[in-house]
Amino acid sequence: MKKIFFLLAVFFLVVSYKMVGQDFDVMELTYPEELEIIKRADWGWLPLEKAKEEAEIKKITIHHGGVEFTKGKDPVELMKTLQKWSRAEKNWIDMPYHFMIDLDGNIYEALPVNYPGDTNIEYDPTGHVSIEVMGNYEVQEFSENQLNAVVSLSAYLAKEFDVSLSDIKTHKDYSEMTVCPGKNIYKYFEDSFFIKMVKESLDN
Ligand SMILES: [Zn+2]
Repeated sequence: MKKIFFLLAVFFLVVSYKMVGQDFDVMELTYPEELEIIKRADWGWLPLEKAKEEAEIKKITIHHGGVEFTKGKDPVELMKTLQKWSRAEKNWIDMPYHFMIDLDGNIYEALPVNYPGDTNIEYDPTGHVSIEVMGNYEVQEFSENQLNAVVSLSAYLAKEFDVSLSDIKTHKDYSEMTVCPGKNIYKYFEDSFFIKMVKESLDN
């Protein structure tokens, strides 16, 4: 009889632990200092409440937010709103992008890289690490600081995950239904300037 109570006690302990303290795998990366990454813990990212099947990274894909984001707006507030919307409205595990870049070229960690991102616009993001530039680059200008940030981050990720230069592309390259990441970013891909910059960064 005692043994049954003991087993029941253990069972309830395990169940209650699962309910309150469920932990999901979060792959943490070590970045070169010069990237000055703002980590999830530094901007108030909320721990995952659920997870999904993990996937290995094979591609790097650039997006824009698609909504104008202007000087004076708070990038952290934007990320917190996106996180809330993604989880509550879309039922995604988290925000759809792994990294987000603000108007000054600061890089923020978002969705952990071991989980595939999500999308509203047709293409399978499994195996892609998704980098989003905040704003709408059909209408906004893409600054040199932002360009340098996307290049340095892409070079680091390409090296870290052994992604070939030909697999660094934009959302538009996988879908005819979107202009993402916007013409003012896409022009750097059209003439291969972006890839040349990544290559230079990797060679140094
Ligand atoms: Zn996109």
